[in-house]
Amino acid sequence: MLNAAQLVRPGDERWDSARAAWNLAIDQRPALVAQPGDADEVAAVVNFARENGLRVAVQAEGHGAGALAGVGEDTLLLKTGRMTGVEIDAENRRARVSAAAKWRDVSAVASPRGLAPLSGLSAEVGVVGYTLGGGLGWLSRKHGLACNSVLAAEVITADGTLVRADRDNEPDLFWALRGGGGSFGAVTALEFELYPAGELYAGMFAWPWQRTADVLHAWREWVSDVPDALSTVARILQVPPLPDIPEPVRGRQLVVIGGAYLGAEGLAGELLRPLRDLRPELDTFGAVAPGALGRLHMEPEDPMPYAVGGQMLDELPAAAIDAITEAAGPGSGSPLISFELRQLGGALTEPPPDAGALAALDQAFLTHGVGTIMDPSAATAINTQLDVLADALKPWDSGVGLANFVDVPTDARTFYPPETFDRLQEVKRRYDPDDLFRANHPIPSPGGHVVVPAELETPGVPEARKL
Ligand SMILES: Cc1cc2nc3c(=O)[nH]c(=O)nc-3n(C[C@H](O)[C@H](O)[C@H](O)COP(=O)(O)OP(=O)(O)OC[C@H]3O[C@@H](n4cnc5c(N)ncnc54)[C@H](O)[C@@H]3O)c2cc1C
Repeated sequence: MLNAAQLVRPGDERWDSARAAWNLAIDQRPALVAQPGDADEVAAVVNFARENGLRVAVQAEGHGAGALAGVGEDTLLLKTGRMTGVEIDAENRRARVSAAAKWRDVSAVASPRGLAPLSGLSAEVGVVGYTLGGGLGWLSRKHGLACNSVLAAEVITADGTLVRADRDNEPDLFWALRGGGGSFGAVTALEFELYPAGELYAGMFAWPWQRTADVLHAWREWVSDVPDALSTVARILQVPPLPDIPEPVRGRQLVVIGGAYLGAEGLAGELLRPLRDLRPELDTFGAVAPGALGRLHMEPEDPMPYAVGGQMLDELPAAAIDAITEAAGPGSGSPLISFELRQLGGALTEPPPDAGALAALDQAFLTHGVGTIMDPSAATAINTQLDVLADALKPWDSGVGLANFVDVPTDARTFYPPETFDRLQEVKRRYDPDDLFRANHPIPSPGGHVVVPAELETPGVPEARKL
């Protein structure tokens, strides 16, 4: 049961911090925020919301809050932040995490054992939200999407029941959770595979951004035949002059290639030689522990206001590199702090047997631009630049989105083949017919109705005893 201290209401001195998203540009104004500490409390919150005509938006820290289109007064924001447990079974290469565990929490226990999860490029992102949305990381070209390494999920469904979904139990729900997002219930725990990563070579090369065109062209040609065990991301960076950023890159405009190779140092050196021959100003590549992967990309560790945009491309011809250089490189006037190109391919293109809703990615590259919104005029300039880049790359755009990289409200049909979307809707109808759960990138229940909020005894201020 939940006590009053775990509910935060408008007017409470904790209100602004409780409703905040990680992206500080997103203003969430729910009816109230609940902060349950375990699965029983999550069930109590879900029952309370349903009985009071509120919808439920489940969130860890809000890294994906942009896609929720704002949380309004018809919604209870269920923040899982107190549920951070992580357990590792190193012998069987399995991990079990609670709802709000971050990748850094998993790495802290897996890395010393030479194991790595299929985490993303930021150690700060939540395991559950990342995985429900697919999950694309440094090791995905070798081992696929994170959602397809899930072994089981424990979920509070819309009727307040705790179910375990795995290959033998609730198989349709298990399928939908693996890449179909958070529309089907509140996940309280997730179990997934870990991978041996005792031999890992990773780091980055950086050149002054005047070298953007020749470095990106060389990278484009070089990636065409690298092995799946090697993943690289090419970036145009305009690093802000902030004191907590390391000096070699602080305030600099750079073209950067970051990478990770799952294998021996000698082989990695040979594979990377063509890039080293371009004489980078900075070369941080070396043998690393798996836990280092979460910091390699220099992602921000604290909340900030930002906007992002990008595409998945079917191909990356030389003309696309020219277009990117012109729109985001030297002389472009781009306000983006980062514009990146991730190579996809490898295991990402092969649906594993018994895959989840997001089985594979057929596209060859993913682009992703980020700008920090320090004032409202910056938002306009950033979004305009993201549109310029999207237009410039349109000839190669696959038209398919990857949920985790789309941080604005979007029709989820763009993420899945039609038959997959239909099946997701069927699962939604079965587990949440009244659309109680409000995910980022929602899968709407077919013919379902949105519950109209009933009157609370005091508007927006429910009584804790009801929980
Ligand atoms: C700095 C940064 C780096 C990133 N890098 C990568 C990357 O390398 N690869 C990649 O694939 N993605 C990446 N992402 C995207 C990230 O995976 C998505 O934003 C993801 O949704 C974040 O999950 P979260 O739990 O942290 O965020 P939240 O906003 O808390 O959750 C996002 C959504 O997940 C669902 N959800 C979360 N928890 C639960 C739960 N317990 N039960 C049910 N549903 C739940 C909800 O629908 C929620 O709206 C990055 C994002 C950021 C901000």
